[in-house]
Amino acid sequence: MPDPRRATPRTDQVLADERLVVAAGRLGPGLVKQAVARAQEQCRAGDVAPEDVADVAVASLPESASSLRRVLNATGVVVHTNLGRAPLSEAAVEAVRTAAGATDVELDLATGRRGRRGRRALDALGAAVPDAGGVHVVNNGAAALALVTRVLARGDDGRDTVVIARGELVEIGDGFRIPELMESVGARLREVGTTNRVHLRDYTSAVDDTTAFVLKVHPSNFAVTGFASSVPARELAGITHAGRRVPLVVDIGSGLLAHHPRLPDEPDAAGALRAGADLVTASGDKLLGGPQAGLLLGEAGLVERLRRDPFARALRVDKLTLAALEATLAGPLPPVPAALGRSAGDLRARAQAVVAAWPADVVAALDAEVVDSAGAVGGGGAPGVELPSAAISLPERLAAPLRAGDPPVLGRTVRGRLLLDLLALDPADDATLADAVRRVAGADRP
Ligand SMILES: *Cc1c(COP(=O)(O)O)cnc(C)c1O
Repeated sequence: MPDPRRATPRTDQVLADERLVVAAGRLGPGLVKQAVARAQEQCRAGDVAPEDVADVAVASLPESASSLRRVLNATGVVVHTNLGRAPLSEAAVEAVRTAAGATDVELDLATGRRGRRGRRALDALGAAVPDAGGVHVVNNGAAALALVTRVLARGDDGRDTVVIARGELVEIGDGFRIPELMESVGARLREVGTTNRVHLRDYTSAVDDTTAFVLKVHPSNFAVTGFASSVPARELAGITHAGRRVPLVVDIGSGLLAHHPRLPDEPDAAGALRAGADLVTASGDKLLGGPQAGLLLGEAGLVERLRRDPFARALRVDKLTLAALEATLAGPLPPVPAALGRSAGDLRARAQAVVAAWPADVVAALDAEVVDSAGAVGGGGAPGVELPSAAISLPERLAAPLRAGDPPVLGRTVRGRLLLDLLALDPADDATLADAVRRVAGADRP
């Protein structure tokens, strides 16, 4: 037996392998060298034969130069925060690819002059919500609120206070809170009502000469039931003080542009504007199903003021976001609204087809069965709303190996079983899911 340390091929020898030369062009030399170093290490440890080092290095190359992996979302949660919220539509991905190069994002090709940045994306947003006199797009929902607050409650006209109900002081996630965000850009908050109830008179008696605007925040990630009340936008839009109408800003959160029949209690941009909101803020990557973005819709003059404010430049979106947003709005139905439209019957049929693709001994060993399931909107949207769905029930012990698989599969564990819910999964990925489970089942030792 030769000493594996001496027999290990040299780095330059392995790197000369044609497949690794090609990979270095795609992934860059650094990642390819790392893969080679790992394979050499295994060879020195005696785990890989010297002649297999190049093969092992090739097999361990990453998919792309980014470490982010594609994950199959079988959680039943349509907008999964930890999986990057909304998956983009094919049309949006295509648009991002085009815009990634030199692109006319800020150029009018007809005249050769500078054009308004992202004009067609903004036009598409405006066309989707005709009730909005003006629209603007910033980095995310939090940025939209920050911009509105910074511009309207700066205080140079003596108005630096935002009136908001105590029951709407929302923590968004990861410890970030809307009230603290607003205070961080200089506004003072005037809290009204109690945790569970607020009335119109609470608002009207809080409004005074220092009031910049009234803010209504959709409690998107929790629900208060029982002895609870809030004041609809329609009534808040009518508040006046000293002969001046107090502006109303509505943070709808989820980014539904119009009413959705499956989410009757979810506020939408068109509805909020028709109710009298002067400005509506929302996220682009929740129920709209687009890229991370903050949408601002409302009265034209107000939106123009926001757009021209120096602070707006710090919240500006890049060309990739504008491209994806336009394609989301103008292109075919994106994955999130598509998932919201799926019927439990169709999902059950898909789940049955996945199970039918497995050999009978695999189905028996896994005790696999199709069960009714309840999916969720997720991503801080429509709390408590259950979306009828179907799932494949498997032993819980498969959760970790499926997560570690290629591609990783994420399900949800319920009462000792792992449920692979099909609601949020693209039907085009059903076969990939079936293969992933079959591979893991092959290595499964109960
Ligand atoms: C999600 C959400 C936000 C924050 O939006 P981001 O896009 O995450 O910055 C703000 N308000 C409400 C009501 C939300 O649901």
